[in-house]
Amino acid sequence: MTTDRPRFITDQNVGKLTKFLRLLGFDTIFFIGESDTQMVQRALEDNRVILTRDTHIPKRRLVTSGKVKVVLIKSDNIDDQIQQVINELNLAGIIKSFILCLECNRPLSVRTKEEITGKVPPYVFQNQRDFMECSECRRIYWKGTHWQAMIKKMEKIGKGQNK
Ligand SMILES: [Zn+2]
Repeated sequence: MTTDRPRFITDQNVGKLTKFLRLLGFDTIFFIGESDTQMVQRALEDNRVILTRDTHIPKRRLVTSGKVKVVLIKSDNIDDQIQQVINELNLAGIIKSFILCLECNRPLSVRTKEEITGKVPPYVFQNQRDFMECSECRRIYWKGTHWQAMIKKMEKIGKGQNK
């Protein structure tokens, strides 16, 4: 783990970004509390970049003083949102897929075929080689075609080739 890898906190108005950023290997939590103050405080404590569409957030004292970083998301469209985050924070070179659980944001561990016997559908077991497991929820991940298609799409978006 490198320390310069940004971590994020997403506001409810850009909640969709949460899983996509995890997919790209960025530690991201979805803020479910009530107040903006709580969210900004959490970002400060955890050293997380706030992603929001709420124009009031960048005016907060902790943000204007430079203690907390905010990316004010411009678009409603998820592809544009991903592209904005990747571009503004220059993330294209540090995308790392297949390292975080999409559901609980925990690191995935490598599993051998023997270890996941009986835990995945037979056709997956037969056709896939690389498996990962979430230490928290025990979900098993594999680099299936769906996953690969998503990553390809993300990489294109990062390069601005989605249009
Ligand atoms: Zn999990």
